[in-house]
Amino acid sequence: MANTEYLPTIGLEVHAELKTRTKMFCDSKNDPDEKRPNVNICPVCMAHPGTLPVINQEAVRYILLMGQALGGKIADYTEFDRKNYFYPDIPKGYQISQYKYPLVSGGVLQGVSITRIHLEEDTARSIHQGDVSLIDFNRAGVPLMELVTEPVIHSALEAVAFGKELQLLLRTLGAGDANMEKGEMRVEANISVGKGGVLGTKVEVKNLNSFRAVERAILYEVNRQIGLLEKGEKVVQETRGWNDAREETYSQRLKEDSHDYRYFPDPDLPKLSLGEIPEFSQESLKVGLPELPWQRRSRYLEYGLKAEDAETMTSDTELASFFDATIEGKDKEFISRAANYLTSDVLGLRAALQFEGMGKLSVESFRSLVDMILDSRLSSRGAKDALVILVRDGGDTESVVEAKGLLQQSGGEFLSSVAKKIVGAHPEVVEEYIKGKETSLQFLVGQGMKESRGSANPELLREALQKEIKG
Ligand code: MN
Repeated sequence: MANTEYLPTIGLEVHAELKTRTKMFCDSKNDPDEKRPNVNICPVCMAHPGTLPVINQEAVRYILLMGQALGGKIADYTEFDRKNYFYPDIPKGYQISQYKYPLVSGGVLQGVSITRIHLEEDTARSIHQGDVSLIDFNRAGVPLMELVTEPVIHSALEAVAFGKELQLLLRTLGAGDANMEKGEMRVEANISVGKGGVLGTKVEVKNLNSFRAVERAILYEVNRQIGLLEKGEKVVQETRGWNDAREETYSQRLKEDSHDYRYFPDPDLPKLSLGEIPEFSQESLKVGLPELPWQRRSRYLEYGLKAEDAETMTSDTELASFFDATIEGKDKEFISRAANYLTSDVLGLRAALQFEGMGKLSVESFRSLVDMILDSRLSSRGAKDALVILVRDGGDTESVVEAKGLLQQSGGEFLSSVAKKIVGAHPEVVEEYIKGKETSLQFLVGQGMKESRGSANPELLREALQKEIKG
């Protein structure tokens, strides 16, 4: 029996700017944060006649590292091709890209098969102001990774999860910052719906500049296509844009075929036999790989972190390296306590106080904070207060705790004076406890904690109260 449900099928094309020092084929600076237009340009990236491109080795290496991390096949032989089209943001009238011989073929990420990863150059940035269009060439010629997946994704959420993991991998390798909001990573989705195992006509959706846009656009497009098919109409093969404000896709143009681009090998660039270049050998690439996101994630799960905390930690590379430095040589109890304070308290403070990274908190001071908690020298109340100061102003934990009087009070004299006061103030509750109502003691402990402004060690306070009541 044929399946009567529509199945969405999605393939992704992801472009990501690489974080190299210079551009792809010249020594103009690659600086995504440059605000002044047309500063980082030169005759090569401005396509002046007679100039010659030179391949950026750092960019090639990043793509090969991606390939190595994803288990793809690194090409023995590769070349660059000209992709010809006319548009004001492409000064040469063609983009240098790769067609027949991508640097990487195959590989898998998050269960999604990858078709290829190749290297090309970014276009300039067009700025439209009323009737005027301006072009900033700072971005023209910036190294750009293009990764294409097989059409094996079947939901918007799967597509988003893939994109997030890819972003994390780029960051982990130091290959790119991949901020979608800054256009450093851009996603296009090829979307079709079909029934009973038959693939439908695919539509390409461009301009997806956030993970939210990826999710919304896929949901919208799947519904739109199902709607057309249900009405007996056809899905047109085309390129559609995404309007973020209206949350809908719109028709842009009919889809080009690759022959429209008249690809041919760039005669100005050398063909590369990668196998003969020592920096690009498998051995060298393997050594160059840091711990990968999925390896880090499973290490954190092995430590006993909750899945949610392991995820939070893995997806924030700065937090993760701080955590790793903190727990070096420490035991399981320390690790779980440290993870807790980082994922709940420190991240909570980051949101509330709006600081970047770890604020002024140092590994050293955080280590001693956790040590003091485990030694019962610091209550959880005291730890929270100390953390606010440590992330905001920095400093040494011992001194901060002492200066602010946050040390947990375990002294017998102090605790018995608190106990005496509380027992004196609540004779009826004490009476109930003596008659056997266990929860009454909890109430008295609570009152004692309040009295000591959180500084009493609750366990020892409980004992002091029992002693006081028994007389
Ligand atoms: Mn491309």
